[in-house]
Amino acid sequence: MKPAWSILPDEWRPILAERGLRPFRADQILQSLYRDYVDDWSAATTLPKEFRETLTAEFPITKTDVLDVAESADGTKKLLLGFSDGNSVETVLIPATGRFTQCISTQVGCAMGCAFCASGSCGVVRSLTADEIVAEYMAGRRHGDITNIVVMGMGEPFANYDETMRALRLINAGKGPNLGARHITLSTCGVVPGIERLAGEGVQFELSVSLHAPNDELRSSLMPVNRKWPLDVLLPACAAYTAKTKRIITFEYTVIGGVNDSRACAEELARQVRRVPMAKVNLIPLSPVSHRPDFRTPDESTMLMFLDVLMRSRVQTMLRRSRGKDANAACGQLRLRNLETA
Ligand code: SAH
Repeated sequence: MKPAWSILPDEWRPILAERGLRPFRADQILQSLYRDYVDDWSAATTLPKEFRETLTAEFPITKTDVLDVAESADGTKKLLLGFSDGNSVETVLIPATGRFTQCISTQVGCAMGCAFCASGSCGVVRSLTADEIVAEYMAGRRHGDITNIVVMGMGEPFANYDETMRALRLINAGKGPNLGARHITLSTCGVVPGIERLAGEGVQFELSVSLHAPNDELRSSLMPVNRKWPLDVLLPACAAYTAKTKRIITFEYTVIGGVNDSRACAEELARQVRRVPMAKVNLIPLSPVSHRPDFRTPDESTMLMFLDVLMRSRVQTMLRRSRGKDANAACGQLRLRNLETA
């Protein structure tokens, strides 16, 4: 038994041959999965009944249940998806002009323990398999045509490297869902071996690195991962990545009121980011999390001060709006709310 959504389009023929099935069946399977988007083989009525039964037994389509939907006034929708073992993850659908972005999770919970993040507040339960990550995308697709994927949901993708990459390659595959590589963004909290591996993959996915602090003392206090890969290891790895791939890295900087929001922090951030050629910065205001009431959302003037300092240092910078606030849209919040009320 092999989940259908774990198999890359080009792998179907040899897998079918091993089981004595004819090669043309591969095309039928791919059409059912990625043209008709069936989520149950019984719905693939263009296929003979006997073959559908073989598929159900040998290549099951991963089931998810939508356990909760939270919809925000700005159109952002957050789905809580349950898997057959009782675990659940969140996926967020974010409409914008000309875009429909899906934020996907790669783990149930997260082991990285960043102080400001709801996903990390309960630790990690397990990693998702490739077919489960694809199942998230498929669940999202039912709500509209996804144009972009950001791997910024629950979990650290580089702590689940192989399964995450397999899922993204499948979603990107021409004979699969065919979502453009440049429309797929991976975000890491700074797992250096993952950045190094991605540099060698020869794929065009976009890379974001969550920085959130401009020096080791502050960064280690917010992000335990920094003790393993401090800035003097992380930033050279990022520079090597841009040199090798000729691709931009985006540094995410969540501004937390009273923690990392001073002018001195902004100036130090500009100096650090300039160590990496082809880097840009996304500034994000903190989404408040219930386990850290002391972490405040910064006011607009602080965000603009950061923007000003970075721009004057000629660092390409974007101010990101927080989306879906009234839908518990900061990482891990919907799952947390469900666990708390369970
Ligand atoms: N583990 C990966 C991806 C998941 S988090 C990573 O760390 O990059 C996606 C982004 O949301 C990260 O930049 C993370 O730091 C940020 N984030 C987490 N909690 C947040 C909060 N409460 N407010 C704003 N951004 C947050």
